[in-house]
Amino acid sequence: MKLVLVGCPGAGKGTQAKVISKHFDIAHISTGDLLREELSTESELALKIKGIMNSGGLVSDDIVEELLKNRISKDDCKNGYILDGYPRNITQAESLEKIIGDPDKVVFINADKDVILERMVGRRGCSNCGQMYHIKHNMPKEDGICNVCGAKLVQREDDREEVVKNRLDVYFKTTEPIIKRYDQKGLILEINGVGNIDEISKTLIDSLEGLR
Ligand code: AMP
Repeated sequence: MKLVLVGCPGAGKGTQAKVISKHFDIAHISTGDLLREELSTESELALKIKGIMNSGGLVSDDIVEELLKNRISKDDCKNGYILDGYPRNITQAESLEKIIGDPDKVVFINADKDVILERMVGRRGCSNCGQMYHIKHNMPKEDGICNVCGAKLVQREDDREEVVKNRLDVYFKTTEPIIKRYDQKGLILEINGVGNIDEISKTLIDSLEGLR
């Protein structure tokens, strides 16, 4: 099962990708996570991509493609995978076609821009265990402190308002055109990303069940 997940930043791709990956026993490949892992190594590559990521721009196609190819070749991808955050422009869509052919389905999580802005700017994560919160919709019991492990909550550098606005601009200019491309191939499964997370997951899983 080869799936691609598209949608603007903050539409809930990461959350739904985890659910789909677990349900269908396929690997969850997030190029954002791969790049953040690279950042934490303080390698030469990390220095190159840090500024771009912190300002909300796109890392160069070559770098991301290399990380992706390497990840796809791992054993846990034998049963399939869901790509979260790749492709993000037409060049990457073309590269992906060369690497894996067409995916079985492209899940498009659609969400309103203003809802997204509020969602992302209010997002906080635990600096220790990664548990996610929201300052309005999913507050920790104690302000700024993780319920699970008691560590400090932090805002992702690229969730700051001016950066989110830039990320959304990049998405609408650069990433959205790939949806049209996949739509012409009849591969799009569109889902409304605003609403109850569990209900969205259920609808998605039901729609994808036929692909097994
Ligand atoms: P994400 O976690 O998917 O929102 O990605 C976080 C950041 O990683 C993005 O804002 C980009 O700077 C970078 N990134 C992730 N995936 C890609 C990609 N496919 N191409 C270029 N840059 C990417």
